Amino acid sequence: MKTLISFKYEPRYVELNEKGILRDRVEILRQILNDCTLCPRNCHVNRNLGRKGKCRVGKELIISGVHPHFGEENCLVGTNGSGTIFFASCNMNCIYCQNYEISRFKRGEIVTVETLAESMLFLQRIGCHNINLVTPTHYVPQIVEAIEIAVKKGLRIPIVYNCGGYESVETLKLLDGIIDIYMPDIKYSDNFYGLRYSGVPDYWDVVREAVKEMWRQVGDLKIVDGVAVKGLLVRHLVLPNNIAGSEKVFEFLANEISKNTYVNIMAQYRPCFNAYLKPELARRITPQEYSEAVKLAIKFGLSRIEISSWYGIF
Ligand code: SF4
Repeated sequence: MKTLISFKYEPRYVELNEKGILRDRVEILRQILNDCTLCPRNCHVNRNLGRKGKCRVGKELIISGVHPHFGEENCLVGTNGSGTIFFASCNMNCIYCQNYEISRFKRGEIVTVETLAESMLFLQRIGCHNINLVTPTHYVPQIVEAIEIAVKKGLRIPIVYNCGGYESVETLKLLDGIIDIYMPDIKYSDNFYGLRYSGVPDYWDVVREAVKEMWRQVGDLKIVDGVAVKGLLVRHLVLPNNIAGSEKVFEFLANEISKNTYVNIMAQYRPCFNAYLKPELARRITPQEYSEAVKLAIKFGLSRIEISSWYGIF
């Protein structure tokens, strides 16, 4: 089956492969694993020898699922689905993670980069509009190697980097031209909450620099025939008691990124995993909390907002 993107979009990773740049990037990224600084945790462990840092994986590559996903943003899902690949473990420790079996308990299978490449080609073959890499941060070297293998065998659909936003700018620079769509969360606008609920000390400082670098590479989200092909798509999950700090998030996006930033304001928070240990997180959000967040985005001039209409507020 052919992808339904009806115009010619050729991802830049094709050109990077032809010029040998993908191979160079794989080499550099593999080296980084000797003294891992792939993400801002900067663990400095030798993952090529099997040592594990804060993400709890050594040299192995663990995948927990490969399938078309119809629950992502409409512009990723299109008609045939977003070609989702879930990676096990995570470089953050969100106490309310709804995928905690995957992110904490590493549910999944150890696979080779060749298998990962075949998974990408399979998703393209069944008509998915993109390859949606979920929680890819700690596997960037293996992912780039798999893309290199897959592109030689005909991979041509956009790659989505679907992450928690806790990213190293240096690693992102090594993804320049490889990733078509960056889809980071912006979880909090206060380092205090990042530490309290996700176990990272500098989330707000890190995510702003990461999002600036992502936007520098790909710009505002470009949607053609209803399907996203390139750009930045930010997810912001509204949390109870204004823990997500939505006002500062939207102010940052409008004033330091672009008023055309595509933002999915998400209402589906529910207390999962260990959220019940924190009373302030142990409930869903109210309709008032959600509509307040949307009003703030509008106040700062953001115009490309995806809202959760299913929530019955608007
Ligand atoms: S990818 Fe893992 S080992 Fe490497 S710096 Fe991040 S948390 Fe540490």
